[in-house]
Amino acid sequence: MNNYDVIIAGCGAAGLYSALNLSPDLRVLLLSKRELTLCNSSLAQGGIAGVYNSPEDSPEKHKHDTYLAGGYENDPESTDVLVKEAAIDIERIIQLGVDFDKCDNGDYHRTLEGGHSMHRIFHHKDATGFELETTLLENAKNLPNVDIWENAVMCDIKKTETGFSFLILKDDEYITANSHYAVLATGGIGRVYEYTTNSAIATGDGIAMAYNMGAEIKHLCYIQFHPTAFSNRNTRECFLITEAVRGEGAYLKNCNGERFMQNYDKRLELAPRDVVSHCIIFESMKTGSDNFYLDITHKDPEFIRQRFPMIYKNLLEAGYDMTKDMIPIYPCQHYLMGGINVNTFAQTNIKGLYACGECSHTGAHGNNRLASNSLLEALVFSRRAANDINSKSKDNQNGFDEYDFKIDNNAPHIPTGLRTEIRKIMQSSYFVIPQVDKLKDGLAKISEIKDMLDKGNYKIDRDYVEARSLATVAFIVLTEANKIASGNAELIYSEGEEI
Ligand SMILES: Cc1cc2nc3c(=O)[nH]c(=O)nc-3n(C[C@H](O)[C@H](O)[C@H](O)COP(=O)(O)OP(=O)(O)OC[C@H]3O[C@@H](n4cnc5c(N)ncnc54)[C@H](O)[C@@H]3O)c2cc1C
Repeated sequence: MNNYDVIIAGCGAAGLYSALNLSPDLRVLLLSKRELTLCNSSLAQGGIAGVYNSPEDSPEKHKHDTYLAGGYENDPESTDVLVKEAAIDIERIIQLGVDFDKCDNGDYHRTLEGGHSMHRIFHHKDATGFELETTLLENAKNLPNVDIWENAVMCDIKKTETGFSFLILKDDEYITANSHYAVLATGGIGRVYEYTTNSAIATGDGIAMAYNMGAEIKHLCYIQFHPTAFSNRNTRECFLITEAVRGEGAYLKNCNGERFMQNYDKRLELAPRDVVSHCIIFESMKTGSDNFYLDITHKDPEFIRQRFPMIYKNLLEAGYDMTKDMIPIYPCQHYLMGGINVNTFAQTNIKGLYACGECSHTGAHGNNRLASNSLLEALVFSRRAANDINSKSKDNQNGFDEYDFKIDNNAPHIPTGLRTEIRKIMQSSYFVIPQVDKLKDGLAKISEIKDMLDKGNYKIDRDYVEARSLATVAFIVLTEANKIASGNAELIYSEGEEI
Protein backbone atom coordinates (compact mmCIF):
# COMPACT_ATOMS: atom_id res chain seq x y z
CA MET A 1 0.00 0.00 0.00
CA ASN A 2 1.27 3.47 -0.90
CA ASN A 3 0.29 5.29 2.25
CA TYR A 4 2.14 8.41 3.37
CA ASP A 5 1.69 11.08 6.02
CA VAL A 6 2.33 13.74 3.39
CA ILE A 7 2.32 13.67 -0.41
CA ILE A 8 3.95 16.66 -2.09
CA ALA A 9 3.20 17.19 -5.79
CA GLY A 10 6.24 19.00 -7.17
CA CYS A 11 10.02 18.78 -6.93
CA GLY A 12 10.81 22.45 -7.60
CA ALA A 13 12.11 24.76 -4.89
CA ALA A 14 8.74 24.83 -3.08
CA GLY A 15 8.17 21.06 -3.03
CA LEU A 16 11.74 20.12 -2.10
CA TYR A 17 12.06 22.75 0.61
CA SER A 18 8.76 21.72 2.21
CA ALA A 19 10.04 18.10 2.33
CA LEU A 20 13.29 19.30 3.90
CA ASN A 21 11.34 21.10 6.62
CA LEU A 22 8.97 18.25 7.48
CA SER A 23 9.60 16.31 10.64
CA PRO A 24 11.84 13.24 9.99
CA ASP A 25 9.26 10.96 11.61
CA LEU A 26 6.74 11.69 8.84
CA ARG A 27 6.64 9.44 5.76
CA VAL A 28 6.73 11.69 2.71
CA LEU A 29 6.29 11.13 -1.04
CA LEU A 30 7.57 13.71 -3.53
CA LEU A 31 6.24 13.62 -7.10
CA SER A 32 7.96 14.99 -10.19
CA LYS A 33 6.00 14.95 -13.44
CA ARG A 34 9.12 14.53 -15.57
CA GLU A 35 12.90 14.64 -14.98
CA LEU A 36 13.70 15.93 -11.50
CA THR A 37 15.33 19.19 -12.56
CA LEU A 38 12.83 20.07 -15.30
CA CYS A 39 10.98 22.92 -13.58
CA ASN A 40 10.85 26.71 -13.38
CA SER A 41 13.08 26.71 -10.30
CA SER A 42 15.98 25.37 -12.38
CA LEU A 43 15.57 28.22 -14.86
CA ALA A 44 15.75 31.13 -12.42
CA GLN A 45 18.66 33.34 -13.32
CA GLY A 46 18.57 36.60 -11.37
CA GLY A 47 18.49 35.38 -7.79
CA ILE A 48 16.69 35.49 -4.47
CA ALA A 49 15.71 38.79 -2.89
CA GLY A 50 16.02 39.20 0.85
CA VAL A 51 17.48 41.26 3.66
CA TYR A 52 20.11 39.17 5.43
CA ASN A 53 23.11 40.60 7.33
CA SER A 54 22.76 43.90 5.52
CA PRO A 55 22.67 46.82 8.02
CA GLU A 56 21.99 49.51 5.39
CA ASP A 57 18.88 47.65 4.15
CA SER A 58 15.75 46.61 6.10
CA PRO A 59 12.64 44.41 5.70
CA GLU A 60 10.63 47.65 5.76
CA LYS A 61 12.45 48.92 2.64
CA HIS A 62 12.00 45.52 0.97
CA LYS A 63 8.28 45.67 1.83
CA HIS A 64 8.01 49.17 0.42
CA ASP A 65 9.51 48.05 -2.92
CA THR A 66 7.25 44.96 -2.94
CA TYR A 67 4.16 47.14 -2.42
CA LEU A 68 5.24 49.61 -5.09
CA ALA A 69 5.70 46.82 -7.68
CA GLY A 70 2.46 45.12 -6.55
CA GLY A 71 0.34 48.24 -7.03
CA TYR A 72 -0.40 48.27 -3.26
CA GLU A 73 -2.71 45.30 -3.82
CA ASN A 74 -0.38 43.13 -1.73
CA ASP A 75 -1.79 41.26 1.24
CA PRO A 76 -0.19 43.09 4.23
CA GLU A 77 0.11 40.00 6.45
CA SER A 78 1.77 37.73 3.89
CA THR A 79 4.04 40.52 2.61
CA ASP A 80 5.17 41.11 6.19
CA VAL A 81 5.92 37.41 6.62
CA LEU A 82 7.77 37.32 3.29
CA VAL A 83 10.17 40.18 3.98
CA LYS A 84 10.68 39.54 7.70
CA GLU A 85 11.37 35.79 7.37
CA ALA A 86 13.63 36.07 4.32
CA ALA A 87 16.73 35.96 6.54
CA ILE A 88 15.68 32.60 8.07
CA ASP A 89 15.54 30.87 4.70
CA ILE A 90 18.53 32.56 3.08
CA GLU A 91 20.63 31.46 6.06
CA ARG A 92 19.16 27.92 5.94
CA ILE A 93 19.83 27.38 2.22
CA ILE A 94 23.40 28.63 2.67
CA GLN A 95 23.74 25.98 5.42
CA LEU A 96 22.31 23.39 3.01
CA GLY A 97 25.11 24.26 0.58
CA VAL A 98 23.76 26.91 -1.84
CA ASP A 99 26.83 28.73 -3.12
CA PHE A 100 26.00 32.43 -3.52
CA ASP A 101 28.57 34.69 -5.20
CA LYS A 102 30.82 36.68 -2.88
CA CYS A 103 32.72 39.97 -3.16
CA ASP A 104 36.49 40.25 -2.73
CA ASN A 105 35.97 41.15 0.96
CA GLY A 106 34.19 37.82 1.56
CA ASP A 107 30.70 39.33 2.00
CA TYR A 108 27.89 38.09 -0.24
CA HIS A 109 27.50 39.96 -3.52
CA ARG A 110 24.01 41.40 -3.73
CA THR A 111 22.85 42.61 -7.10
CA LEU A 112 20.15 45.09 -8.11
CA GLU A 113 17.06 44.36 -10.20
CA GLY A 114 14.15 46.43 -11.51
CA GLY A 115 11.92 47.83 -8.76
CA HIS A 116 14.44 47.27 -5.92
CA SER A 117 15.75 50.38 -4.16
CA MET A 118 18.70 48.47 -2.67
CA HIS A 119 21.20 45.86 -3.79
CA ARG A 120 19.54 42.83 -2.12
CA ILE A 121 19.49 39.98 -4.65
CA PHE A 122 21.59 36.97 -3.64
CA HIS A 123 22.73 35.07 -6.71
CA HIS A 124 24.95 32.33 -8.10
CA LYS A 125 26.31 33.98 -11.25
CA ASP A 126 23.28 34.05 -13.61
CA ALA A 127 22.13 30.51 -12.79
CA THR A 128 20.83 30.84 -9.23
CA GLY A 129 17.81 28.59 -9.76
CA PHE A 130 19.81 25.61 -10.95
CA GLU A 131 22.20 25.99 -8.02
CA LEU A 132 19.25 26.12 -5.59
CA GLU A 133 17.32 23.27 -7.23
CA THR A 134 20.27 20.86 -7.40
CA THR A 135 21.37 21.65 -3.83
CA LEU A 136 17.87 21.11 -2.42
CA LEU A 137 17.53 17.92 -4.48
CA GLU A 138 20.80 16.45 -3.17
CA ASN A 139 19.69 17.19 0.40
CA ALA A 140 16.20 15.73 -0.16
CA LYS A 141 17.64 12.55 -1.69
CA ASN A 142 19.51 11.94 1.57
CA LEU A 143 16.35 12.00 3.70
CA PRO A 144 15.46 8.42 4.74
CA ASN A 145 11.79 9.35 5.35
CA VAL A 146 11.27 10.75 1.84
CA ASP A 147 10.52 8.78 -1.35
CA ILE A 148 11.03 10.67 -4.63
CA TRP A 149 9.16 9.45 -7.71
CA GLU A 150 10.46 10.77 -11.04
CA ASN A 151 8.29 10.70 -14.20
CA ALA A 152 5.26 10.35 -11.94
CA VAL A 153 2.28 12.36 -13.17
CA MET A 154 -0.37 13.31 -10.63
CA CYS A 155 -3.45 12.67 -12.79
CA ASP A 156 -6.11 13.34 -10.18
CA ILE A 157 -6.54 13.98 -6.48
CA LYS A 158 -9.62 13.35 -4.34
CA LYS A 159 -10.50 14.33 -0.81
CA THR A 160 -11.29 11.32 1.39
CA GLU A 161 -12.46 10.96 5.00
CA THR A 162 -8.87 10.46 6.13
CA GLY A 163 -7.08 12.86 3.80
CA PHE A 164 -6.34 12.52 0.10
CA SER A 165 -6.09 9.88 -2.64
CA PHE A 166 -3.81 10.52 -5.62
CA LEU A 167 -4.04 8.83 -9.00
CA ILE A 168 -0.45 8.72 -10.30
CA LEU A 169 0.84 7.56 -13.67
CA LYS A 170 4.40 6.42 -12.92
CA ASP A 171 6.19 5.55 -16.13
CA ASP A 172 3.35 3.49 -17.68
CA GLU A 173 1.70 2.20 -14.54
CA TYR A 174 -1.34 3.63 -12.71
CA ILE A 175 -0.76 3.79 -8.95
CA THR A 176 -3.04 5.06 -6.18
CA ALA A 177 -1.30 6.68 -3.22
CA ASN A 178 -2.97 8.06 -0.10
CA SER A 179 -1.97 10.64 2.47
CA HIS A 180 -3.22 12.54 5.48
CA TYR A 181 -1.88 15.84 4.14
CA ALA A 182 -1.31 17.05 0.59
CA VAL A 183 1.00 19.84 -0.56
CA LEU A 184 0.55 21.21 -4.07
CA ALA A 185 3.79 22.71 -5.37
CA THR A 186 3.19 22.20 -9.07
CA GLY A 187 4.47 25.56 -10.34
CA GLY A 188 3.10 27.98 -12.92
CA ILE A 189 0.91 28.11 -16.02
CA GLY A 190 3.27 29.45 -18.73
CA ARG A 191 2.43 26.72 -21.20
CA VAL A 192 -1.06 28.16 -21.60
CA TYR A 193 0.70 30.71 -23.88
CA GLU A 194 2.48 30.30 -27.19
CA TYR A 195 5.49 32.24 -25.90
CA THR A 196 6.71 31.79 -22.35
CA THR A 197 9.92 31.55 -20.36
CA ASN A 198 8.44 28.65 -18.38
CA SER A 199 9.55 25.03 -18.50
CA ALA A 200 7.46 22.33 -20.19
CA ILE A 201 5.92 21.21 -16.89
CA ALA A 202 4.17 24.58 -16.32
CA THR A 203 0.63 23.57 -17.30
CA GLY A 204 -1.16 24.52 -14.08
CA ASP A 205 -2.03 20.91 -13.09
CA GLY A 206 -2.17 21.57 -9.35
CA ILE A 207 -4.32 24.67 -9.80
CA ALA A 208 -6.80 22.84 -12.04
CA MET A 209 -7.05 19.85 -9.68
CA ALA A 210 -7.43 22.08 -6.60
CA TYR A 211 -10.18 24.01 -8.43
CA ASN A 212 -11.98 20.75 -9.20
CA MET A 213 -11.78 19.80 -5.50
CA GLY A 214 -13.44 23.10 -4.53
CA ALA A 215 -10.36 25.09 -3.51
CA GLU A 216 -10.50 28.86 -3.73
CA ILE A 217 -8.58 30.18 -6.74
CA LYS A 218 -7.65 33.85 -6.67
CA HIS A 219 -6.28 36.42 -9.14
CA LEU A 220 -5.41 33.88 -11.82
CA CYS A 221 -5.50 36.65 -14.40
CA TYR A 222 -2.64 38.42 -12.58
CA ILE A 223 -0.04 37.19 -15.04
CA GLN A 224 3.39 38.73 -15.38
CA PHE A 225 4.84 39.24 -18.82
CA HIS A 226 8.61 39.61 -18.73
CA PRO A 227 9.76 42.48 -20.95
CA THR A 228 13.07 41.01 -22.08
CA ALA A 229 12.83 37.46 -23.41
CA PHE A 230 15.23 36.71 -26.25
CA SER A 231 13.12 37.32 -29.35
CA ASN A 232 13.14 34.02 -31.14
CA ARG A 233 9.68 33.28 -32.53
CA ASN A 234 10.67 29.75 -33.58
CA THR A 235 10.56 28.10 -30.17
CA ARG A 236 7.88 28.00 -27.48
CA GLU A 237 10.24 28.32 -24.52
CA CYS A 238 11.77 31.78 -24.76
CA PHE A 239 15.20 32.20 -23.24
CA LEU A 240 15.11 34.91 -20.58
CA ILE A 241 17.50 37.83 -20.52
CA THR A 242 17.46 38.49 -16.79
CA GLU A 243 16.48 41.83 -15.33
CA ALA A 244 19.96 41.92 -13.78
CA VAL A 245 21.32 42.81 -17.24
CA ARG A 246 19.36 46.07 -16.96
CA GLY A 247 20.41 46.23 -13.30
CA GLU A 248 24.01 46.29 -14.53
CA GLY A 249 23.27 49.18 -16.90
CA ALA A 250 21.85 47.80 -20.19
CA TYR A 251 19.66 50.15 -22.27
CA LEU A 252 16.34 49.30 -23.92
CA LYS A 253 16.17 50.48 -27.51
CA ASN A 254 13.44 50.60 -30.14
CA CYS A 255 13.60 49.59 -33.82
CA ASN A 256 15.51 52.81 -34.59
CA GLY A 257 18.19 52.02 -32.01
CA GLU A 258 16.87 54.81 -29.72
CA ARG A 259 16.28 54.64 -25.95
CA PHE A 260 12.60 55.28 -25.21
CA MET A 261 11.87 54.57 -21.52
CA GLN A 262 12.39 58.27 -20.67
CA ASN A 263 9.12 58.97 -22.54
CA TYR A 264 7.15 56.70 -20.20
CA ASP A 265 8.65 56.31 -16.71
CA LYS A 266 11.28 58.18 -14.75
CA ARG A 267 12.74 54.92 -13.42
CA LEU A 268 13.79 54.28 -17.03
CA GLU A 269 15.05 50.71 -17.66
CA LEU A 270 14.69 49.85 -13.96
CA ALA A 271 10.94 50.38 -13.78
CA PRO A 272 9.06 47.24 -12.59
CA ARG A 273 8.69 44.61 -15.28
CA ASP A 274 4.96 45.03 -15.98
CA VAL A 275 5.56 48.73 -16.56
CA VAL A 276 8.44 47.99 -18.94
CA SER A 277 6.35 45.38 -20.83
CA HIS A 278 3.51 47.88 -21.24
CA CYS A 279 5.97 50.55 -22.44
CA ILE A 280 7.33 48.17 -25.08
CA ILE A 281 3.82 47.47 -26.38
CA PHE A 282 2.98 51.22 -26.42
CA GLU A 283 6.29 51.98 -28.16
CA SER A 284 5.60 49.25 -30.74
CA MET A 285 2.21 50.89 -31.46
CA LYS A 286 4.05 54.19 -31.96
CA THR A 287 6.83 52.86 -34.21
CA GLY A 288 4.73 50.17 -35.92
CA SER A 289 7.50 47.65 -35.26
CA ASP A 290 7.95 44.64 -32.93
CA ASN A 291 11.73 44.99 -33.03
CA PHE A 292 13.27 45.86 -29.67
CA TYR A 293 16.77 45.49 -28.27
CA LEU A 294 18.73 45.32 -25.05
CA ASP A 295 22.10 47.01 -25.38
CA ILE A 296 24.93 46.45 -22.88
CA THR A 297 27.78 46.90 -25.37
CA HIS A 298 28.98 50.04 -23.52
CA LYS A 299 30.11 47.90 -20.53
CA ASP A 300 33.45 46.14 -20.14
CA PRO A 301 33.31 42.89 -22.22
CA GLU A 302 35.20 40.90 -19.56
CA PHE A 303 32.73 42.04 -16.88
CA ILE A 304 29.79 40.97 -19.10
CA ARG A 305 31.30 37.53 -19.73
CA GLN A 306 32.03 36.99 -16.01
CA ARG A 307 28.71 38.33 -14.73
CA PHE A 308 26.42 36.64 -17.29
CA PRO A 309 28.25 33.51 -18.45
CA MET A 310 25.12 31.46 -19.22
CA ILE A 311 23.34 34.24 -21.14
CA TYR A 312 26.57 35.09 -22.98
CA LYS A 313 27.03 31.45 -24.03
CA ASN A 314 23.38 30.91 -25.06
CA LEU A 315 23.33 34.13 -27.11
CA LEU A 316 26.62 33.27 -28.77
CA GLU A 317 25.10 29.93 -29.83
CA ALA A 318 22.16 31.88 -31.33
CA GLY A 319 24.57 34.14 -33.26
CA TYR A 320 24.76 37.18 -30.95
CA ASP A 321 27.84 38.38 -29.04
CA MET A 322 26.27 40.52 -26.30
CA THR A 323 29.57 42.35 -25.71
CA LYS A 324 29.31 43.73 -29.28
CA ASP A 325 25.73 43.19 -30.52
CA MET A 326 22.38 44.53 -29.37
CA ILE A 327 20.17 41.63 -28.15
CA PRO A 328 16.74 41.29 -29.84
CA ILE A 329 14.06 41.06 -27.12
CA TYR A 330 10.26 41.06 -26.76
CA PRO A 331 7.87 40.48 -23.82
CA CYS A 332 6.56 36.98 -23.09
CA GLN A 333 4.60 35.18 -20.37
CA HIS A 334 6.80 34.71 -17.33
CA TYR A 335 5.11 34.37 -13.95
CA LEU A 336 1.76 33.89 -12.23
CA MET A 337 0.93 36.07 -9.24
CA GLY A 338 -2.44 34.41 -8.56
CA GLY A 339 -3.23 30.77 -7.84
CA ILE A 340 -4.64 28.51 -5.14
CA ASN A 341 -5.58 30.90 -2.36
CA VAL A 342 -3.71 30.27 0.90
CA ASN A 343 -3.20 31.94 4.26
CA THR A 344 0.20 32.65 5.82
CA PHE A 345 0.57 28.97 6.77
CA ALA A 346 0.00 27.97 3.12
CA GLN A 347 -3.33 26.38 4.10
CA THR A 348 -6.09 26.33 1.49
CA ASN A 349 -9.78 26.34 2.38
CA ILE A 350 -9.72 22.51 2.14
CA LYS A 351 -8.69 20.87 5.41
CA GLY A 352 -5.24 19.26 5.10
CA LEU A 353 -4.56 20.71 1.63
CA TYR A 354 -1.62 23.12 1.36
CA ALA A 355 -0.25 25.01 -1.65
CA CYS A 356 3.07 26.79 -2.03
CA GLY A 357 5.33 28.24 -4.68
CA GLU A 358 4.09 29.55 -8.00
CA CYS A 359 0.80 27.57 -7.98
CA SER A 360 -0.29 29.36 -4.80
CA HIS A 361 -1.70 32.82 -4.13
CA THR A 362 -0.34 34.23 -0.89
CA GLY A 363 -1.17 37.78 -1.94
CA ALA A 364 2.41 38.89 -1.23
CA HIS A 365 3.01 39.96 -4.84
CA GLY A 366 -0.09 42.13 -5.25
CA ASN A 367 -0.86 42.62 -8.92
CA ASN A 368 2.77 42.36 -10.01
CA ARG A 369 5.67 40.46 -8.49
CA LEU A 370 8.83 42.33 -7.61
CA ALA A 371 11.84 40.69 -9.29
CA SER A 372 13.39 37.77 -7.36
CA ASN A 373 10.61 37.69 -4.76
CA SER A 374 9.19 34.40 -6.09
CA LEU A 375 11.94 31.99 -5.06
CA LEU A 376 11.80 33.72 -1.70
CA GLU A 377 8.03 33.22 -1.51
CA ALA A 378 8.46 29.54 -2.48
CA LEU A 379 10.95 29.02 0.37
CA VAL A 380 9.23 31.03 3.11
CA PHE A 381 5.73 29.61 2.60
CA SER A 382 6.77 26.00 1.93
CA ARG A 383 8.65 26.04 5.24
CA ARG A 384 5.57 27.46 6.93
CA ALA A 385 3.40 24.73 5.36
CA ALA A 386 5.79 22.07 6.64
CA ASN A 387 5.89 23.56 10.13
CA ASP A 388 2.10 23.68 10.24
CA ILE A 389 1.89 20.00 9.22
CA ASN A 390 4.58 19.14 11.81
CA SER A 391 2.51 20.79 14.52
CA LYS A 392 -0.66 18.87 13.57
CA SER A 393 0.56 15.50 12.38
CA LYS A 394 0.70 13.89 15.81
CA ASP A 395 -3.07 14.41 16.18
CA ASN A 396 -3.73 12.52 12.96
CA GLN A 397 -3.76 8.82 13.85
CA ASN A 398 -6.42 7.91 11.26
CA GLY A 399 -5.91 5.14 8.75
CA PHE A 400 -5.90 5.71 5.01
CA ASP A 401 -9.04 5.63 2.86
CA GLU A 402 -8.43 4.87 -0.80
CA TYR A 403 -10.52 6.40 -3.59
CA ASP A 404 -11.51 3.99 -6.34
CA PHE A 405 -10.31 5.76 -9.51
CA LYS A 406 -11.91 4.41 -12.69
CA ILE A 407 -9.45 3.69 -15.51
CA ASP A 408 -10.59 2.77 -19.02
CA ASN A 409 -7.56 1.32 -20.79
CA ASN A 410 -9.42 1.28 -24.13
CA ALA A 411 -10.38 4.97 -24.07
CA PRO A 412 -9.06 7.02 -27.04
CA HIS A 413 -6.19 9.50 -26.86
CA ILE A 414 -7.29 13.18 -26.86
CA PRO A 415 -7.64 14.77 -30.31
CA THR A 416 -4.44 16.46 -31.53
CA GLY A 417 -4.19 20.25 -31.73
CA LEU A 418 -6.25 21.08 -28.62
CA ARG A 419 -3.34 22.54 -26.64
CA THR A 420 -2.20 24.59 -29.64
CA GLU A 421 -5.71 25.99 -29.97
CA ILE A 422 -5.87 26.95 -26.29
CA ARG A 423 -2.50 28.73 -26.60
CA LYS A 424 -3.60 30.66 -29.69
CA ILE A 425 -6.74 31.88 -27.94
CA MET A 426 -4.80 33.03 -24.87
CA GLN A 427 -2.08 34.70 -26.95
CA SER A 428 -4.57 36.71 -28.98
CA SER A 429 -7.01 37.67 -26.22
CA TYR A 430 -4.94 38.16 -23.08
CA PHE A 431 -1.29 39.08 -23.67
CA VAL A 432 0.33 42.04 -21.80
CA ILE A 433 -2.65 44.31 -22.57
CA PRO A 434 -6.00 42.41 -22.58
CA GLN A 435 -7.89 42.63 -25.89
CA VAL A 436 -11.33 43.48 -24.55
CA ASP A 437 -13.08 42.77 -27.88
CA LYS A 438 -11.67 39.21 -27.93
CA LEU A 439 -12.20 38.17 -24.31
CA LYS A 440 -15.84 37.03 -24.60
CA ASP A 441 -15.25 35.03 -27.75
CA GLY A 442 -12.07 33.51 -26.24
CA LEU A 443 -13.96 32.43 -23.13
CA ALA A 444 -16.75 30.83 -25.19
CA LYS A 445 -14.25 28.79 -27.21
CA ILE A 446 -12.26 27.75 -24.14
CA SER A 447 -15.48 26.73 -22.32
CA GLU A 448 -16.31 24.37 -25.19
CA ILE A 449 -12.86 22.75 -25.09
CA LYS A 450 -12.98 22.44 -21.30
CA ASP A 451 -16.42 20.86 -21.41
CA MET A 452 -15.29 18.34 -24.00
CA LEU A 453 -12.25 17.34 -21.92
CA ASP A 454 -14.16 17.21 -18.61
CA LYS A 455 -17.03 15.12 -19.95
CA GLY A 456 -15.36 13.04 -22.68
CA ASN A 457 -13.99 9.57 -22.04
CA TYR A 458 -10.28 9.96 -22.92
CA LYS A 459 -7.23 7.92 -22.03
CA ILE A 460 -5.76 9.35 -18.83
CA ASP A 461 -2.17 10.12 -19.75
CA ARG A 462 0.12 13.15 -19.50
CA ASP A 463 -1.30 14.70 -22.69
CA TYR A 464 -4.85 14.47 -21.34
CA VAL A 465 -3.95 15.76 -17.87
CA GLU A 466 -2.06 18.73 -19.30
CA ALA A 467 -4.74 19.63 -21.87
CA ARG A 468 -7.45 19.49 -19.18
CA SER A 469 -5.32 21.66 -16.88
CA LEU A 470 -4.60 24.23 -19.60
CA ALA A 471 -8.30 24.42 -20.49
CA THR A 472 -9.28 24.87 -16.83
CA VAL A 473 -6.61 27.52 -16.24
CA ALA A 474 -7.53 29.42 -19.45
CA PHE A 475 -11.20 29.22 -18.47
CA ILE A 476 -10.57 30.79 -15.04
CA VAL A 477 -8.19 33.47 -16.42
CA LEU A 478 -10.63 34.55 -19.12
CA THR A 479 -13.61 34.43 -16.74
CA GLU A 480 -11.77 36.80 -14.39
CA ALA A 481 -10.61 39.02 -17.27
CA ASN A 482 -14.17 39.27 -18.58
CA LYS A 483 -15.35 40.26 -15.10
CA ILE A 484 -12.76 43.04 -14.98
CA ALA A 485 -13.69 44.18 -18.48
CA SER A 486 -17.34 44.39 -17.44
CA GLY A 487 -16.44 46.37 -14.32
CA ASN A 488 -16.91 43.54 -11.81
CA ALA A 489 -13.53 43.40 -10.12
CA GLU A 490 -14.28 40.66 -7.57
CA LEU A 491 -11.71 38.06 -8.51
CA ILE A 492 -12.22 35.24 -6.05
CA TYR A 493 -13.34 32.66 -8.55
CA SER A 494 -15.03 30.03 -6.40
CA GLU A 495 -16.91 30.74 -3.20
CA GLY A 496 -14.19 29.04 -1.19
CA GLU A 497 -16.26 27.48 1.59
CA GLU A 498 -14.34 25.53 4.17
CA ILE A 499 -14.25 21.87 3.09
C1 LIG B 1 13.30 31.71 -16.90
C2 LIG B 1 12.86 32.02 -15.50
C3 LIG B 1 13.65 32.82 -14.69
C4 LIG B 1 13.26 33.12 -13.39
N1 LIG B 1 14.08 33.87 -12.60
C5 LIG B 1 13.74 34.07 -11.31
C6 LIG B 1 14.63 34.74 -10.42
O1 LIG B 1 15.73 35.12 -10.79
N2 LIG B 1 14.24 34.90 -9.13
C7 LIG B 1 13.03 34.47 -8.66
O2 LIG B 1 12.72 34.67 -7.49
N3 LIG B 1 12.18 33.82 -9.49
C8 LIG B 1 12.51 33.59 -10.78
N4 LIG B 1 11.65 32.91 -11.59
C9 LIG B 1 10.41 32.36 -11.02
C10 LIG B 1 10.72 31.16 -10.15
O3 LIG B 1 11.74 30.39 -10.76
C11 LIG B 1 9.50 30.30 -9.94
O4 LIG B 1 8.40 31.06 -9.55
C12 LIG B 1 9.74 29.25 -8.87
O5 LIG B 1 10.93 28.56 -9.13
C13 LIG B 1 8.59 28.29 -8.80
O6 LIG B 1 8.96 27.21 -7.99
P1 LIG B 1 7.91 26.06 -7.74
O7 LIG B 1 8.59 25.08 -6.85
O8 LIG B 1 6.63 26.62 -7.32
O9 LIG B 1 7.63 25.42 -9.20
P2 LIG B 1 8.62 24.66 -10.18
O10 LIG B 1 10.02 24.90 -9.85
O11 LIG B 1 8.18 24.95 -11.56
O12 LIG B 1 8.32 23.12 -9.87
C14 LIG B 1 7.09 22.53 -10.21
C15 LIG B 1 7.17 21.03 -9.92
O13 LIG B 1 5.86 20.48 -10.00
C16 LIG B 1 5.91 19.26 -10.71
N5 LIG B 1 4.59 19.00 -11.31
C17 LIG B 1 3.80 19.83 -12.03
N6 LIG B 1 2.67 19.19 -12.39
C18 LIG B 1 2.76 17.93 -11.89
C19 LIG B 1 1.92 16.80 -11.97
N7 LIG B 1 0.74 16.78 -12.59
N8 LIG B 1 2.35 15.64 -11.37
C20 LIG B 1 3.54 15.60 -10.71
N9 LIG B 1 4.38 16.66 -10.60
C21 LIG B 1 3.98 17.82 -11.19
C22 LIG B 1 7.00 19.48 -11.74
O14 LIG B 1 7.45 18.25 -12.26
C23 LIG B 1 8.03 20.24 -10.91
O15 LIG B 1 8.81 19.31 -10.20
C24 LIG B 1 12.03 32.61 -12.89
C25 LIG B 1 11.24 31.81 -13.71
C26 LIG B 1 11.65 31.51 -15.00
C27 LIG B 1 10.77 30.65 -15.84
